[in-house]
Amino acid sequence: MQTCVSPTEKRRIVIAGGGYAGTTLAVRLGRRIKPSDDVEILLIEPNPCQQALSELDLVAVGPPRPEFCELWLPTIFKDLPVTVCYNRVHSVLPDEHAVLVGPREGPHEKVPYWRLVLATGAVAFVPPVPGLKEHATTMWSVHDAQELQRRIEGQFRIAAKTVDREARVKALSFAVIGGGATGLEIVGTLGQMLPKRMREHGLDPADLRVHLVEGRPDILYDLPESLRKKAKARLAKLSVQLHLGSMVASVDETGITLEDGSRVDASVVVFCGGAKADPDANTWGLEVDPSGRLTVDESLHASGRSDIYAIGDVAAFRDPESKRTLPMLAQFAIREAEHTADNLLRELRGGQPEPFHPHMHGEFVSIGPGWGVGWMFRWHLSGIPAIVMKRFTYAMYWYEVGGLRLAWKRLREMLAMQR
Ligand SMILES: Cc1cc2nc3c(=O)[nH]c(=O)nc-3n(C[C@H](O)[C@H](O)[C@H](O)COP(=O)(O)OP(=O)(O)OC[C@H]3O[C@@H](n4cnc5c(N)ncnc54)[C@H](O)[C@@H]3O)c2cc1C
Repeated sequence: MQTCVSPTEKRRIVIAGGGYAGTTLAVRLGRRIKPSDDVEILLIEPNPCQQALSELDLVAVGPPRPEFCELWLPTIFKDLPVTVCYNRVHSVLPDEHAVLVGPREGPHEKVPYWRLVLATGAVAFVPPVPGLKEHATTMWSVHDAQELQRRIEGQFRIAAKTVDREARVKALSFAVIGGGATGLEIVGTLGQMLPKRMREHGLDPADLRVHLVEGRPDILYDLPESLRKKAKARLAKLSVQLHLGSMVASVDETGITLEDGSRVDASVVVFCGGAKADPDANTWGLEVDPSGRLTVDESLHASGRSDIYAIGDVAAFRDPESKRTLPMLAQFAIREAEHTADNLLRELRGGQPEPFHPHMHGEFVSIGPGWGVGWMFRWHLSGIPAIVMKRFTYAMYWYEVGGLRLAWKRLREMLAMQR
């Protein structure tokens, strides 16, 4: 069996999950520890490549590419004192201060820790609506995005062979369920980029139909009304047809039936109706909230466990000011990670962890690759300034974890995907 660790007298910090939270934490710790801290940092992550959740729409609708990688972890950590083990945390043994590492069906390696940080993220949530699981794709991983791309390409091939116009339009009808940020991102990119992709395939963009289905009466509930209006105007410009105010009753191979009895024809359905914390978190003997996220105290310790932290989407941090649990957003995952790295450094040097104080300075949603809406401090932005701000926040992340070279490389890749 391949092992993650060799015997050491050093204190060991184990980080489970190398997404936005885990990578930020490992990089910050790796850069700031000193030999006198006498610590070993072990990051456990099954994928050598970080998932580009914020760019899945571009992966799905952009030009086909065999694989896509936002950040290559071996490159990020090549000069840092961080050991990366490309495996998964199978279970947590809180009373033994150890994790079991290995595949679902054994064998497992027992890895003791001095401090453990759980940052295993979230998965797509699919409610038990008839036909939804069987016929819709979700949008929560590069694999999902590539599956959607395969389905779109398949429909292009079917349409190209179809003479009857009505049948061709049906083949080229795409529907997104979910009027939150994720749904808007993918439906906007479908509306903006598919016409060009269709022309490349010799298809007429007049045959394209793109639908957005949302059970509530409006879209983007987290944004102010003025921005919601702008978002809807943008969707209209992209010829996206809105179906608001009726829940999905069922999905089949030819489309969606809504609870009000109406029908949305669609050969491809994408479900963007929400996410839930990593389901394995439920099995680790730690406290979870009703939605399955690990409950944490004000310093991001798992409830009742001073040697375990939980950060990012898997953790339910309750903002003491708003009394609300923080939403699953990369910006919070990154800030929680930075704060936890600083707390670990304090602990290593004999200090005490400090409480986390979250601040939301803004939020941006893209609707198509070149347009967005959002807010920052007191300003409301739409169009190109909003999309620039959204891309800028990700460029800052790339800069933080990989320096200027990586930020520049990733920006160029992202621009290439938009073409
Ligand atoms: C389509 C889409 C668009 C988004 N756009 C935005 C946006 O514009 N702005 C924003 O702020 N947020 C956005 N988000 C949300 C954001 O991506 C998440 O909040 C963020 O990824 C959370 O970071 P994380 O580190 O907690 O989890 P992740 O980034 O998901 O990382 C979790 C990691 O844990 C690993 N893992 C899982 N199980 C195990 C295990 N047992 N052992 C070891 N490792 C494990 C996984 O492989 C993964 O690498 C978007 C999400 C989606 C799906």
